[in-house]
Amino acid sequence: MRSRSLSAVLISGLVVAACTAPTPSSFEWIDEPALEASARDEPPPDDELEPSGVTDVTVPDPSAGGSSSSERSMAREAAPTAPVVAFLNGGGGTYTAGVDDAARRVSSVLSFYGRRSATAPPTGYAGATWQELLDCVREKFARYDVTITDRRPVGAYSEIVVTNAWGSSILGLSNAIGGIAPLGACRVVPQAVGFVFQPVYDRPGYGGVAGACEAVAHELAHTLSLSHEQLAADLMSYSPANPAKRFQDANAACGVSAQAPEACTCGAATQNSHRQLLSMVGARAANGGATNPADTTPPVVRVVSPANGASAPGNANVTVAVDATDETGLADVRLVWQQTQRALACDDSVQGVTCVVSGDRRTWTIFAGTGARSFYAYAVDGGGNTTSTPLVTISLTGAAPDAPPTVAVQLPADRAVLARGAAIDFQAAAADDRAVADVRAIWTFAGGTLEYPMAQTTTPGVYRATTSVSATATAGWRSVEIAVVDDGGNRALSPKRWVYVQ
Ligand SMILES: [Zn+2]
Repeated sequence: MRSRSLSAVLISGLVVAACTAPTPSSFEWIDEPALEASARDEPPPDDELEPSGVTDVTVPDPSAGGSSSSERSMAREAAPTAPVVAFLNGGGGTYTAGVDDAARRVSSVLSFYGRRSATAPPTGYAGATWQELLDCVREKFARYDVTITDRRPVGAYSEIVVTNAWGSSILGLSNAIGGIAPLGACRVVPQAVGFVFQPVYDRPGYGGVAGACEAVAHELAHTLSLSHEQLAADLMSYSPANPAKRFQDANAACGVSAQAPEACTCGAATQNSHRQLLSMVGARAANGGATNPADTTPPVVRVVSPANGASAPGNANVTVAVDATDETGLADVRLVWQQTQRALACDDSVQGVTCVVSGDRRTWTIFAGTGARSFYAYAVDGGGNTTSTPLVTISLTGAAPDAPPTVAVQLPADRAVLARGAAIDFQAAAADDRAVADVRAIWTFAGGTLEYPMAQTTTPGVYRATTSVSATATAGWRSVEIAVVDDGGNRALSPKRWVYVQ
């Protein structure tokens, strides 16, 4: 892990909103710690490059106060709350240097690096994958009055360019940098333009679309004045990709680590990213859930089943029941399935996952393979208070597909001769790799077929039934077969044995 922390010289102008505008030569540039192996759902292939950490860069708020003045302003008043429209640009484009103006494709990032222009190629995401990114970013901002769109809006808007290019190729940045954006000086940077470099997140272990989604949310939040902070569960942290990351309602020290502190843009000793977003852009009036900033009591959530450590058949549906309640209403409840790194809403939006709501209970059904699976649930209330359950790990067994059962007939002896009215025994050994569900004898005579269910004897795996030949039976040959069905529905049928009734 490298750390290139440059001293932060704070200069601000006479404009009260301009509280912390670092000079262009004094931005911070700190690498993210390498991803923890445990944070990845799948181990990387052997030939994968070692994750070297992802970082991002903020550039000074381009229009906040006069940079010609070295007068320090102690006033740290936030700008009035105003909604923001954010354009998620997957189409790329050519941008020129200047004070941010998304509609004119002017970016202060270019000015910062002394580049006259830069051309960003389009995103590599398409179709459902692009939609997944869009949905994910919308979910991150669901509680705030930020409209996320992927069509270039009319009027004033901010823009995050998701480009399928490394920062090195279009801006001369380090390839460890996942995104870059202007940092609002305790205010929303108007018409801001930021960039997210998709190839950084396409590498195994970097989260893919989910990682890019977090980067978009992170960069956009920089333009909305949020500093880095040290709370790992917060989107403004540098902790590894995690679908449960959100803007947390908690006070956290600013900077990406205790070793690399940063000033919080609004001048307080700590940052509460949720509250700061509410003060910058306001709460979304109708977000499909409750919004109640006065609510400070967190919701209650628990995994009802399965229990931690439980085993269940693999290659089958797993059912997870979660109960969640809040005294003023829930804004969101998610099941975080770690293998796929997805935070599943109860909305059937993910193929292979269904969910039903009944009262306080949400029940997800997920088709899963075999092996260990871990998950947890979290609930968010209208005040942004979040409660997560402990991690639950279950074991999905039965890696091999269910094999058919086997059967070996023991009685009657082949070509046995029976008198009318005599007793007859059917007996067979039956076995299965999982469980035998049914064993029965099939008696075929001129008039049809009769079946005799057989019960397991005191000898495990040996099944038996006894009946007798009718006293009025006609003389002739009968056949006997033993049929075995296992718990997976696989059936085995023995060879025929012949019995003569005389
Ligand atoms: Zn950042």
